[in-house]
Amino acid sequence: MRKRLAIIGNGMAASRLLDELLRRNAGESFEITVFGEEPRGSYNRILLGRVLSGGEPDEITLKPREWYAERGVAFRSGVRVTQVDPVGRKLATSDGDSHPYDVCVFATGSSPLVPRVAGLKSDDGTPRDGVHVFRTIEDCIAIRERARPGSSAVVVGGGLLGLEAAKALCDLGLHVTVLHLDAVLMNAQLDRFGGELLQRAIEKMGIFVRTGSSADEVLGNGHVEAVKLRSGEVVPADLVVFACGIVPRVDVAKASGVPVKRAILVNDLLATSVPGVYAVGECAEHEGKVYGLVQPIWEQCAVLADVLTGANPRSRYQGSKVYARLKVAGVEVASFGVTDAEFPTDGPRRQARRGDARRLCGSRACPGADVRPRRADATQPPRRAGDRAGPHDRCRTRSLQLQSCKRIRDRGRDPRRLRHPARALRRHPRRHRLRLVPRAAYDDVGDAREDRSRDWLK
Ligand SMILES: Cc1cc2nc3c(=O)[nH]c(=O)nc-3n(C[C@H](O)[C@H](O)[C@H](O)COP(=O)(O)OP(=O)(O)OC[C@H]3O[C@@H](n4cnc5c(N)ncnc54)[C@H](O)[C@@H]3O)c2cc1C
Repeated sequence: MRKRLAIIGNGMAASRLLDELLRRNAGESFEITVFGEEPRGSYNRILLGRVLSGGEPDEITLKPREWYAERGVAFRSGVRVTQVDPVGRKLATSDGDSHPYDVCVFATGSSPLVPRVAGLKSDDGTPRDGVHVFRTIEDCIAIRERARPGSSAVVVGGGLLGLEAAKALCDLGLHVTVLHLDAVLMNAQLDRFGGELLQRAIEKMGIFVRTGSSADEVLGNGHVEAVKLRSGEVVPADLVVFACGIVPRVDVAKASGVPVKRAILVNDLLATSVPGVYAVGECAEHEGKVYGLVQPIWEQCAVLADVLTGANPRSRYQGSKVYARLKVAGVEVASFGVTDAEFPTDGPRRQARRGDARRLCGSRACPGADVRPRRADATQPPRRAGDRAGPHDRCRTRSLQLQSCKRIRDRGRDPRRLRHPARALRRHPRRHRLRLVPRAAYDDVGDAREDRSRDWLK
């Protein structure tokens, strides 16, 4: 008899998990039911900016309703799971139904974080007209209805989501100001230098960026009219979008007795300590880490599908190396490893190669830095960390360098005979887990490109 598998949530993690399960013929061993609070099939949240700038929701749909029916997956759209009873093994849903299960997976994702800012609600307690978040298709439609060319918008948050929202609003013809608390845009992924480059590229698009500032109060009579900054300055705004971060959605898990810290606690099998209950995606916390990017989520889904179907019972999730290659508001941004210097001698290095600009960081603690380039002039002394061009310059981050060099030491090989780590990476991308970003990815840095030779390559 087939087991009943219930997936709570129908976002990107659930969608990927379904793909992974069906690839392993899970339909033969499971009766799968997906509960999605949103009133549509799963869609690519990463591409929400397209809907915000005028695209149709269909353009970003991953799985239309028919997809589920054609594959024998029961899909309950617009239905929220309110409680899980792990002893009786049944779920309660917002439409008053009860649904038995044998295995249940939380894939409830996150909700937007809205900081405590005065004036978010009107005097009658309803949310002030013109205040929005940016997480779902419905949010985008609501923002679009409010956005009029020539009006002004304040986006609170200069991270990935905030910049996406700002670009889309700017493309709609609004005067956009981004407020970011930190001194560096996208400070979770970038260091000061990278943040400055990004800020310049964003400002060239016509978006005003104020780093080191935050919203103190939303002003207006019924609807939004302005945002008061902590400095006391007032920025006029017809629309305010909060994109300040995310909070894992753990309310149902908590209410159901599933252990939660920042998110739902899972082990290497993506299992919670409650029998039959698993979690993946942004709502899962593994080894103290909650991931907010899709790459780790894909890795989790593959492991969970292996575990549930028995396709590979030895499969284990051991955490993900976070690297991000993102198209932020039209600017290609790649970030690997640590963002800040770890040692006093660490510092940014910039390198020009065939008109290409890239930022390389770190050099010090890399024993492989003494490795001579292939076909190098043997009469030259070995390179030292801090020298200009050399084989390790092609590695993007210190952590990548260190990883490669550690591998050499671990294998007891003479580092001087080592193939260049970048080349090794290209040959064994899986083993290294980190990927090199093709140089072409950097050829699209908008107008900032013109400045590269003058500013970036000093
Ligand atoms: C605008 C934007 C741009 C992004 N860009 C990038 C990017 O470039 N690169 C990148 O790696 N990541 C990006 N991300 C992050 C990425 O989209 C998320 O990491 C990913 O969507 C998380 O997937 P998830 O399934 O865990 O959560 P979600 O996709 O949020 O899905 C969770 C779903 O569960 C539903 N749900 C919650 N609770 C219940 C319940 N009790 N019952 C039923 N349903 C429920 C929710 O309604 C939601 O549909 C971006 C995110 C946004 C918003």
